[in-house]
Amino acid sequence: MSNTKFIFVTGGVSSSLGKGIISASLAKLLQSRGFKVTIQKLDPYINIDPGTLNPYEHGECYVTEDGAETDLDLGHYERFSNEPTSQANNITTGRIYLSVIEKERKGVYLGSTVQVIPHITDEIKSSVKLLTERNHYDFVITEIGGTVGDIESLPYIEAVRQMKWEMGKDVLVIHLTLVPYLSAAGELKTKPTQHSVKMLQEQGVQPDIIVCRTEHHLNDHLREKIARFCNVAQSSVIESIDAESIYDVPILMRQEKLDTEVLKLINVPVENDLDISDWEEFLRKLKNPKTEVNIALVGKYVELKDAYKSILESFVHAGASNQVKVNIRMVHSELIEKQGAAKLLKGMNGILVAPGFGERGIEGKISAVRFARENKIPFLGICLGMQCAVIEFARNVLKLNNAHSTEFDLQTPFPVIDIMEAQKKISGMGGTMRLGSYDCKLKPNSRAFDIYQSELIHERHRHRFEFNNHFLEKFEAAGMIATGTYQAENLVEIVEIKNHPWFIGVQFHPEYKSTVANPHPLFVNFVKAALKQKQEE
Ligand code: GLN
Repeated sequence: MSNTKFIFVTGGVSSSLGKGIISASLAKLLQSRGFKVTIQKLDPYINIDPGTLNPYEHGECYVTEDGAETDLDLGHYERFSNEPTSQANNITTGRIYLSVIEKERKGVYLGSTVQVIPHITDEIKSSVKLLTERNHYDFVITEIGGTVGDIESLPYIEAVRQMKWEMGKDVLVIHLTLVPYLSAAGELKTKPTQHSVKMLQEQGVQPDIIVCRTEHHLNDHLREKIARFCNVAQSSVIESIDAESIYDVPILMRQEKLDTEVLKLINVPVENDLDISDWEEFLRKLKNPKTEVNIALVGKYVELKDAYKSILESFVHAGASNQVKVNIRMVHSELIEKQGAAKLLKGMNGILVAPGFGERGIEGKISAVRFARENKIPFLGICLGMQCAVIEFARNVLKLNNAHSTEFDLQTPFPVIDIMEAQKKISGMGGTMRLGSYDCKLKPNSRAFDIYQSELIHERHRHRFEFNNHFLEKFEAAGMIATGTYQAENLVEIVEIKNHPWFIGVQFHPEYKSTVANPHPLFVNFVKAALKQKQEE
């Protein structure tokens, strides 16, 4: 396809309707028809990126190959499409304004008054178009964060209006809205949808397709009513019924013909037959597990599922790949401090200690590692989880009393985890970490090598602290081996314990790279180890 087509996805009535999943599902369907697709998220908040937002505010911060700290929806995009995203795929209002203000300071606007229209809207439009300028795509799907009617999303909607006016058929708007069920009346109600579409129309944008999130099926009468009130064809009213799993949504959207409706409206002939047999095979395995395993996820944000989104999804992929149901028990690390690891972790077939920042709950995480190590339970430590494994080994095996990370104890006599020299000079909080993809060389004859089946791997990072090489010899002599390193700077990326059934700590975040098409080998193998533990128990 020569002209890139731009699809915008807006939301109405309520937040959390699943714009990200609808966008990712549409991308998957178009991709299965042979089109090249990318997905982008425009976030209306003023932070430059979500890197400085705490997980209570915004859930997980997802990290891309190029080291951008982004919205967790980008994780869905990658998991569904199996295509890497980049900084250009997540733009915030803060980033837009920063760029405009920097240009103003440089005199780029040649003395003119800098205004929301056209300067901010031009900057938004060029951020959307930029994606396909570097790397041609047939479709750019842009999800606009927030809900139509929010003051902060006005410039984005205005940019959509302008693009539609300038580019005609090459631009299409999908509006995702809620059709609530009133149990007292026993009816689905279309009025909120009508109002939210009216609001979009007031802002000059006529949606082309309306996707209705609903708990009950829409009948023809309702579809006809929504079509009539909202100025779209009846075939453009798409039902999005609550699904058992987010991974059902591409199949549901295919049944509702979302992809062919999009193609029809932008005048692209529907040539290829859609082949999503790989996806269906994944779902078949996901829904027909042969057995189950129990894995504990130890962290301090356990009440907040979104904080560990990518880890949880990686377990879904790894579970399906093993045809095993993975039951995750979220265990609060502060609770371990109060009640002890044995009480909370007994009976688990695997223990994962999560990434994180700050001291709260750290001793609970260290106790969880000890419990896994001593009881020979498969253990995976990610980032801070790996650092906890190192601290635990130092304290309890090497007998280095009060060993710690200098993130938590600057006075520790044994700083087994320490800040990198290069990071010491940096101040401020935003973007000051080791971020994005780095290569890692694996030791032959290691478990890591067995798992990856490759000597050189690439994984994504987001941290400031590192294993302190000063102690490496002592660790290796006692059985904790560094089996993966970033050679350019001699940084330890993976540690393993030899005489343990499965004990791996990784300084990087494998969870960012697990997709439906490519479940991450570390997770797949961890689940396998948990299954073995269960069978041998
Ligand atoms: N807080 C640790 C560091 O900065 C670990 C970070 C993480 O787990 N992502 O190194």
